[in-house]
Amino acid sequence: MMADFDQEDFLRERHVRFFQRCLQVLPERYAPYETSRLTIVFFALSGLDVLNALDVIDKPALIEWIYSLQVLPTDDRSNLQRCGFRGSSHMGVAYNNSKGPGSLHAYDSGHVAMTYTGLACLVILDDDLSRVNKEACLIGLKALQLEDGSFYAVPEGSENDMRFVYCAACICYMLDDWSGMDCQKAIDYIRRSTSYDGGIGQGSGLESHGGSTFCAIAALSLMGKLQDVFSEREMRRIRRWCILRQQNGFHGRPNKPVDTCYSFWVGATLELLDVFQYTNFEKNRNYILSTQDRLVGGFAKWPDSHPDPLHTYFGICGLSLMGEGDLRKVHPALNISERAFASLQRLHGVWRESST
Ligand SMILES: [Zn+2]
Repeated sequence: MMADFDQEDFLRERHVRFFQRCLQVLPERYAPYETSRLTIVFFALSGLDVLNALDVIDKPALIEWIYSLQVLPTDDRSNLQRCGFRGSSHMGVAYNNSKGPGSLHAYDSGHVAMTYTGLACLVILDDDLSRVNKEACLIGLKALQLEDGSFYAVPEGSENDMRFVYCAACICYMLDDWSGMDCQKAIDYIRRSTSYDGGIGQGSGLESHGGSTFCAIAALSLMGKLQDVFSEREMRRIRRWCILRQQNGFHGRPNKPVDTCYSFWVGATLELLDVFQYTNFEKNRNYILSTQDRLVGGFAKWPDSHPDPLHTYFGICGLSLMGEGDLRKVHPALNISERAFASLQRLHGVWRESST
C-alpha cells in the first residue's frame, strides 16, 4: 500500500527542473525539432507557469529571443504575406530586434504554429505585445487560409487541417482582431469535418480524433460561436464521443491505447462542453501519474517510456483541469494558464480604451 501512495505523489520540483533543462540544453535526439524550437519553449514556459514557477527563468532574455523570430515587413513591404513568427534561427536570417525593417530572404516566412506559440509565450511572459507587428501577422495569417476554410502552415503550402484552424483562431484571439481569417469559412470547415460517429476529424471524411475535436471545439469557443454552430442533438453526440474516450486515462480514437496528452485534449474539450465533471478523475489522475518519470521529472505518453516536453506539459495541464493542488488553472480553449489569460484580457482592455 505504501508503494501505491508513493506512486501517486506529484513531483513538482522535478518537473520544474525538467522544464528548466528544456530551456537550456536538449539531448541530441531533439535535433530534428530545431525548426520548431519555439513550440518546445512554449511547453516549458507555459508548463512552468502552470507549476507557478516562472520565477526560475530570465524573462527579458527570452522575450528578446522570441522577438528575434518575428518575420517583419521589408522596406518595400513585398513580403507582407510571409510575415508571422519562425520557429528558430535555423534560416540564418540576420538577428533583428523588431525595431527596423525585416530583411528579405527567399525562403524566410512565418509558420502558423510558431506565430501562435510565439504570441502565447509573450503573453505568458507578461510582455505587452507592443513590438508585435499586428498588421503584418494578420496579413500573413489571412494569406494562409484556403477556399475550403482550412489553413496552410506556411505560404509555400503544406498540410492543411484542423490544427492550423485552431492556431489561426488563437492568433486572432490574442491580437483581438479577427481580420486575419474568414470565420464563416472556418466554421463551415469545422461542420464538414464532423464525422458520422459524433467526433470531429482533421478534415471532411476523415476519422474522428481527440486532437482535431479539441482544435475544432476550442476554435469555436475562441470565436464565441460554440453555442451557435451545432444543434443540441449534435452537441450531445460530440459530448458522448468525447466521454467515451476515457478508459482509465484518455485515448484519442476508439481502440487506441490511452496516452497522457489526451487527458488534456479530450479533458479540455469536455470542460468546454460543460461535462468534464462526469468523468472519473481518480482513474485519470492515476494514469497520468503512472507516466511520471520519478528520476528526471517529466511525463511520457505511456508508463515506462521516455518523458518529453509535450507530454510533460499536457500531463500537467490534464492534472490542472482536475484541480490538482498547487497547480494554476489552465484556460481550456487558449491553452495557457488562467493567470496569463487574465493578463491578456487586461491588455485587450487597454487596447480597446486607446482605440476609442
Ligand atoms: Zn500523446
